[in-house]
Amino acid sequence: MEQFDLIIVGSGPAGLGTAFAYSKRKPGGKVLLIEKERYSTGGLRNDCKMNFTYPIGFPDEYWDSESANRYLAEVIEELQPRFMEKKNLSIYEKRAEKLGVKLLEVRQSHLGTDGGLELIKELMDRLKNRGIEIHLEETASEVDPKDQILFTDKGKYKYGNLVIAPGRRGFSFLQDLMKRLRISFIDHILDIGIRLETTIEQYPIVRDYYDPKFLFPDKVRTFCTNAFRAYVVQEKYLTANGEPYYSVNGHAYSSKRQENGLVNFALLKTVMFTEPLASGQKYAEMIGLQAMLLGGGRPIMQRVGDFRLGKRSTEAAFTGDLYFFEPTLHCTPGDISLSIPAKILRAIWKAMKLLDTIVPGVLHPSTIMYYPEIKLYGNKPRFMDPFFQAFPHIYLIGDGAGTSRGITAAWASGIRAVEGILR
Ligand SMILES: Cc1cc2nc3c(=O)[nH]c(=O)nc-3n(C[C@H](O)[C@H](O)[C@H](O)COP(=O)(O)OP(=O)(O)OC[C@H]3O[C@@H](n4cnc5c(N)ncnc54)[C@H](O)[C@@H]3O)c2cc1C
Repeated sequence: MEQFDLIIVGSGPAGLGTAFAYSKRKPGGKVLLIEKERYSTGGLRNDCKMNFTYPIGFPDEYWDSESANRYLAEVIEELQPRFMEKKNLSIYEKRAEKLGVKLLEVRQSHLGTDGGLELIKELMDRLKNRGIEIHLEETASEVDPKDQILFTDKGKYKYGNLVIAPGRRGFSFLQDLMKRLRISFIDHILDIGIRLETTIEQYPIVRDYYDPKFLFPDKVRTFCTNAFRAYVVQEKYLTANGEPYYSVNGHAYSSKRQENGLVNFALLKTVMFTEPLASGQKYAEMIGLQAMLLGGGRPIMQRVGDFRLGKRSTEAAFTGDLYFFEPTLHCTPGDISLSIPAKILRAIWKAMKLLDTIVPGVLHPSTIMYYPEIKLYGNKPRFMDPFFQAFPHIYLIGDGAGTSRGITAAWASGIRAVEGILR
């Protein structure tokens, strides 16, 4: 059986951060990177908007500004981002402040979905040049912690250390593994909300600040703005019982593609369960399935104009007159308020009204509300040390394990795990 000093599961930013950090510190080390798809499937592949300012993407139970900034310096060194300029923010900041809303200034770069793919290819080539073995289209399935063996659908390998970074879609894989290894974890936090789609004219702030981060009362925030060549997409998830449901998301192409003049962004509310600590994953599944029931197996879309009047959107009336632009994700016209829990909807509607005061126009009747957008916070394992070691020689990192909520923090998690391994 082949033996490696380090095996990494997942080639998302957490796995890549691990591979780069390890090969930088231990050139010549024997490293295997396993990825079940042909390419990394997370945010690097979709839109690839990177945020380089704490706390964006960094859960504060694991990171403070000092530690995040130290790791971010290394992320910048490897990724060499081109930061986007921000302009004319003071007017928005002043309006926000008056309303008790905060506008965070974040250093950002944006490659777009096409640019992200080029970056992934370049990063993979650099890793190969550093002598790292890469197995694509191979799925990790099981771990024998006693003999330090990783099993996949294609073979088995002995590891000195194992870093598992399977992302949000690997949530169930990670949960199953933690149950088998008796690593205790909680998953009691999640974000639920909607994605808005409108025209650049109705949300012109994106010309000055590509992905504006507004923090509203009641734990509502704007998230993942895509503009100019922007599309709403649906992502398929499976419940523990294998039932499919969709969460919407957004992405954009780089400036090489033709503009469609649209912008989309999420408004998410963070929900945290206290006693009796319900599972965020199960709640998300329930919410997802309920939306599928009402949307006939697809997400629901509703024009703000209909929502305001308390009526559902219908196929026949979905375009024309005030509803002048076509949705980029043609899902089911309906009534999101039949599906979204009242407490979440109230907080989001309040945030929408505040946003419309700060950036007037976003509540134009044509604006589309897509539902549901669900973000799981990962299973938070009980770690043995600050380096995300959850079991001797096994490190769990990235969005799936709740150590990050974005590309740069996922990458930073990988660096931190390597520091733990080489301590
Ligand atoms: C559509 C979309 C757009 C996003 N846009 C952005 C953005 O613009 N900016 C941003 O900061 N964040 C964005 N995010 C969030 C971002 O993707 C995550 O924060 C980040 O990718 C997490 O990194 P990760 O390495 O933990 O997981 P991932 O990037 O999800 O990578 C995990 C990898 O592990 C692989 N894998 C899973 N299970 C196995 C297994 N059993 N065996 C082998 N391989 C496995 C997966 O195929 C995947 O490639 C976006 C997310 C999505 C879904």
